[in-house]
Amino acid sequence: MPDWKDKVRCSFCHKKSSDVSKVIAGPGVHICDECINLCNEILEGERLAASTEPRLPMWESMSEEQILDHLPKIAAVQAQVDDNLRDWVAHLRTRDVSWERIGASLGMTRQSAWERFRSET
Ligand SMILES: [Zn+2]
Repeated sequence: MPDWKDKVRCSFCHKKSSDVSKVIAGPGVHICDECINLCNEILEGERLAASTEPRLPMWESMSEEQILDHLPKIAAVQAQVDDNLRDWVAHLRTRDVSWERIGASLGMTRQSAWERFRSET
C-alpha cells in the first residue's frame, strides 16, 4: 500500500499520517496522536475545573469569520469519510457481495447503492 500514508489524514487537524507519529482509525474517520493529546488536555482541564457551567453549541463563541473558516474543514472530513465508505464498499464488491446487501446495510435500495458506489471507470 504505497499511497496509504499520503491518503490518510487526521479528521480533526487534517495532517497527513506521514506528518504525525500515529493515526488511529474509526469508522470512516481518523485521529492523530497530537489531537489525542489535545483531547486529553481538555479532559484533564475539565476534571480540574469540575465545571458545572452549561455547555453552549461551539459556534456561540465563534465569530462569523471563524465559522466560515471552519466550513471547508468540515467539508474535507466529509470528503474523506465518503472516500473511505467508497473503499469499504469496493472491497465488499471484490468479495461479490450483492448491491442488495450493501444497500440494506446502508438503509438504501439496491438501485441507490449501485448508483452511488459503482465504479466510474
Ligand atoms: Zn490530528
